[in-house]
Amino acid sequence: MRNLITGGCGFIGSHLADALHADGQEVIVLDDLSTGKIENIRHLENKPGMQVLIGSVTEQDLVHEAVRKCDRVFHLASAVGVKLIMERPVQTIDTIVTGTQVVLAHANRYRKPVLLTSTSEVYGKSTAVPFEEDGDRLSGPTTKHRWAYACAKALDEFLAMAYWKSSRLPVAVVRLFNTVGPRQTGQYGMVIPNFVRSAKAGLPLQVYGDGNQSRCFCHVADVVRGLIALMDCSQAYGEVVNLGSTEEVTIMELARRVISETSSQSDVLLVPYEHVFGEGFEDMVRRVPSIEKAKRLVGWQPELGLSRTIRDVAASCP
Ligand code: UDP
Repeated sequence: MRNLITGGCGFIGSHLADALHADGQEVIVLDDLSTGKIENIRHLENKPGMQVLIGSVTEQDLVHEAVRKCDRVFHLASAVGVKLIMERPVQTIDTIVTGTQVVLAHANRYRKPVLLTSTSEVYGKSTAVPFEEDGDRLSGPTTKHRWAYACAKALDEFLAMAYWKSSRLPVAVVRLFNTVGPRQTGQYGMVIPNFVRSAKAGLPLQVYGDGNQSRCFCHVADVVRGLIALMDCSQAYGEVVNLGSTEEVTIMELARRVISETSSQSDVLLVPYEHVFGEGFEDMVRRVPSIEKAKRLVGWQPELGLSRTIRDVAASCP
């Protein structure tokens, strides 16, 4: 198999490239290095069966050529991280929507299977926890930019489903919940790399809001295993599938776990949301996936728990 991974220099994309390459498959990475880093795949760069293309998923000719040459497309390229999305609102929408339009159009032209990664953000403020793939979504107003990300990714999902319905393009949509592991940068706001860095430096861990909001953090190795299994599963085409951990933890408890796993002397500091994101920011209170569909389709469930995930991040963090 020759796999095209858009966003292959990113955190999840680079782990996916590692796994496919280790399996003896060929990999073409396409990345514009906006948030991805070439260092993430440096160890693979000159290996046989590897090709790296630097450019954007919005570039028609580049995407055309890459899709034509591959057997299947893992489309991961996207704006990422709440902080970045708040800081670069126009670029966020453009990369997500235009990029996916371009990728799906060329994949459809050459009939190449696509796995599109979406996000648990699409569930928005829904309180129907655990979130099921066909549950209702609850978005906030267009004046609050956080919701642009969820809406843009939801539009990508609609487009993928439209190609499936109208021309039977084999396309699976995977909604990723909070995914963590080595190579994830805290630069775009992600909580675990930020907490680990602060804990190791003896600085206070900054918990936004009251710390009662909760999340489920899944190890990237588990997520990558799920992505490959779903791409290999023809029953997953035309489906939306959640991938994530079901081990729920409040952010306050997470801070304590990070301090304990890293044997740190750091304190926890509560920081109001508006100090970080400006006025009018809305956070999700709980976010827990139902993973029944992934279990049913490919027998997937996470194997590595939160403690192991924190330890792996800590071990890889300078
Ligand atoms: N968060 C925090 N401190 C940080 C970064 C994030 O308290 O340094 C909180 C954030 O407000 C959210 C949760 O941790 O409630 C998870 O944030 P992240 O950006 O990792 O992912 P999200 O689930 O918001 O996409």
